[in-house]
Amino acid sequence: MNQAPTLEQQIEFQIRTSGPMSVATYMGLCLTHPSKGYYKNQDPFGAKGDFITAPEISQMFGELIGFWVVNLWQQMNEPKTFTLLELGPGRGTLMSDVLRVACRAPGFRDALDLRLFETSPALVAEQKARLEAYDPKWLENFENVGTGPIIILANEFFDALPIRQFVRKENGWHERQIGLDGDKRVFGLSPTPIPPMSMPPGVADAAIDEILEFCFGGAQLMSRLSQLVSRQGGAMLAIDYGYARTQTGETLQGVRRHAYADVLEAPGEVDLSAHVDFEALASVARQSGLAVQPLQTQGGFLTDMGISHRATALAGANPNLAQDIRAAEQRLVGADQMGELFKVLCAHSPGLQPSGFGA
Ligand code: SAH
Repeated sequence: MNQAPTLEQQIEFQIRTSGPMSVATYMGLCLTHPSKGYYKNQDPFGAKGDFITAPEISQMFGELIGFWVVNLWQQMNEPKTFTLLELGPGRGTLMSDVLRVACRAPGFRDALDLRLFETSPALVAEQKARLEAYDPKWLENFENVGTGPIIILANEFFDALPIRQFVRKENGWHERQIGLDGDKRVFGLSPTPIPPMSMPPGVADAAIDEILEFCFGGAQLMSRLSQLVSRQGGAMLAIDYGYARTQTGETLQGVRRHAYADVLEAPGEVDLSAHVDFEALASVARQSGLAVQPLQTQGGFLTDMGISHRATALAGANPNLAQDIRAAEQRLVGADQMGELFKVLCAHSPGLQPSGFGA
C-alpha cells in the first residue's frame, strides 16, 4: 500500500530534485503546508500547546482593543456599515472580547461586517463556534472586502509569515538556504552574492557574517491592506514582537511545547516565527498614503488605554480572582515580560487620531 510521504520526506525530495531551498520556502512548508503544516494540524495555544498569546492571558487585552475600535468608529462618524477584519484570529478570543465591549455602543452591532483571515481549518472551526453570533465571513484573499471604512486587527500574525535570510560576506549578501548533508538538513549559503546597494540603507555597514531577515510576504500583505485602508478609510493595528528599526541579527526561532526547539527539527511540529521589522511595515504603509503613529510598546499602549482601571474594576467585581487579574496585567505590561518586547503599530487614514498612542 502506498503511504503519503511525510513533510520531512517531501522537503528532502524537493531539495534533492531542485537544490537547496530558501528559509522562506522551508518556513512556508513547515507552517502552512496544506495537509502537514504546523498551523494545519496543531492547536498551538494554551497550557498544553506551544505558546500562549496576550488575548489568552487575559480578557483585558481584547476589551481595551474593543474600546480602541469603538473610538475609531465614532471618529469616523459611526458609519452605517464598516468592516472589521482580523488576521490570524487564533481561537477567536481576541475578537470575542473586542466585540463584547464594542457592541455595547449603540449602532455598532448593526454596522458591523466581520471578516476573518485564517489558514488553519481547526482554528476556523473554533472561530466559528466562538463568533457565530456576529455572522463572520472568512476571506480567501483581499479582493472583496466591502467598500466602506475598514478596521484591521492583527495580534501575533506577522511573526508567523515566512522570512528570507541573507548573510553579509566580503563580496555582498548571500541568501541563507537549507540543503542536505547526507540525509540531514543543514544551513548553507547561496553562491550568488547580492550587491549591498540592493539592501536596506540601515544595514549598509553590517559586519561580515551578520544576518539580515526580510519578510517579503509581510511587506506584500501590508501593502495590499494599506491600499484598502487608504481607499476606504480606516486603520490597522498590528501587535507583535519585533524591532523598531531595520537591523541585522537572527531572530528566527522554533518553539515546541513552551521550549525552544531547533528550527530544522521535526518539520510541521515546531512553531517557527521571526521578529517583525516594524520599520519595513511602517514604510510600506506610508507609501500608500497612510499616517503611521510612532511605534508604541505593548505596555505603553495598554497603559494608555487604561489597563490599570480595567484591572481594578475587574478585581473589584471578582475579589477571589484579584491576584490573578493583577498578575495578568503585569504579564501584559511588565517591561521584563511582554510589555517592552511586544510593539504596537498603527497605520491609519490621515484624519483620524487613534487612542493609545499618548496623544
Ligand atoms: N491572533 C491569535 C493567534 C496568533 S497565532 C492570538 O493572538 O491568540 C497566528 C495565527 O495566524 C493563527 O491563527 C494562525 O493559524 C494564523 N496564520 C498563520 N499563518 C497564516 C497565513 N499565512 N495566513 C492566514 N493565517 C495564518
